[in-house]
Amino acid sequence: MVARPCAWSVYRNRAPRRRQLFRAKRAMGACRGNGWRVAMPANYNGPRQPGTPLFPPARAMKITDVEALHLRIPGVEEIADGTQDVLIVRVHTDSGLVGIGEVSSQSYVCKAIIEAPRSAERRHGLREIVVGQPAEDIDALWQRMYLHTNRYGRRGAAIHAISGVDLALWDLRGKALGQPVYQLWGARDPAPIRAYASYLFGDTPDETLRLAREARELGLTAVKFGWGPFGADADVDRDHVAAARRGVGDDCELMVDAGCKWDAPTALERARLLAPFRLAWLEEPLSQDDLKGYGELCPQSPLPIAAGEGEVTRYGFAELIERGVHVLQPDVAICGGLSVCREVSQMCRAAGRRAVPHCFSTGVNLAASLHWMAATGGDLVEYCLRPSPLLRKLVSNLPPLVAGRVSVPRGPGLGIELDDAVIEQYRVR
Ligand SMILES: [Mg+2]
Repeated sequence: MVARPCAWSVYRNRAPRRRQLFRAKRAMGACRGNGWRVAMPANYNGPRQPGTPLFPPARAMKITDVEALHLRIPGVEEIADGTQDVLIVRVHTDSGLVGIGEVSSQSYVCKAIIEAPRSAERRHGLREIVVGQPAEDIDALWQRMYLHTNRYGRRGAAIHAISGVDLALWDLRGKALGQPVYQLWGARDPAPIRAYASYLFGDTPDETLRLAREARELGLTAVKFGWGPFGADADVDRDHVAAARRGVGDDCELMVDAGCKWDAPTALERARLLAPFRLAWLEEPLSQDDLKGYGELCPQSPLPIAAGEGEVTRYGFAELIERGVHVLQPDVAICGGLSVCREVSQMCRAAGRRAVPHCFSTGVNLAASLHWMAATGGDLVEYCLRPSPLLRKLVSNLPPLVAGRVSVPRGPGLGIELDDAVIEQYRVR
């Protein structure tokens, strides 16, 4: 004789099926309040209950492949120009949607990190780690990549490569929901973001003056100078910064990048010397690993100190905040992606610091940085002016610089389109 189930177990077994049916009908566009006949808005997902998936069943996506496309212009030079080669990441899903990301690092190494086969525990390639996984829970996927690359990762190139996948996952989520990334993070109708451009100091102060005037003619209201002859001699440094200030005028934010040239005592002397020029920040005065030096310099410096363009993970940025760094500069294509940038913005808000993107590669990086700033109340983005086709042409709808500001892309996801002809022309095979 078969025992009859009690009333509670019948309810318990049937209720999930009713909920599934409701969600399936809702995903097809039906609405209970009108006898399931009236179509609901295409983007409406209903109130999300704890424990339910982010997407209704009809939109759930599984990752089917991760492509790493290495693009490189001919004649790459050993100069501080990240637009000469790039690793583009494309995450494919069984829904047909494809997410786009970018890695700004050693492209050959990061391509290998993505494509490496399964190995012993915690030393797999990223493609092996994410293929077959649902695409919607980005935080879970980030933690999965971080954990399963643990033996060779945690910092450096493995996190750079994770950045590319993370950007592609955010692009995918936006495309699946028909919303730009900034909207996924709660922002609506963002105003164009103010931009700054980076220039090398001229060989002479007169050349620096000319470059500074050129920057203002572009409509920029924030300009950064760095590298070149700067850093070796205090008088030369003061003359160049004086020329830059004269060229951009008093109503322009002026920043200086010291290129990691000093120790903490020298940096403090220079900060005091340059204080009359009212720099918005003095960038990377010390080695990226001189955390003790940052801890000594930051509380005493009369100028805000900026750092972090090469830093990765929330742990690295938490350390910089702890040492007193005033302006944090994550690069979305280096630090671990938009997921890490959002955390850094939250930490900066809590600690009274400023987050400003480092962005010196392609339009993928620029678009992601714009979404990040738009959604977190950021007020500045770096706008690269290099002539490389990987910057100017790879993203066919590259947001232009207009009157010193850049509009945030409005399309779903990152809101960008890649030019297939540019990919074919510069792809390394
Ligand atoms: Mg820099």
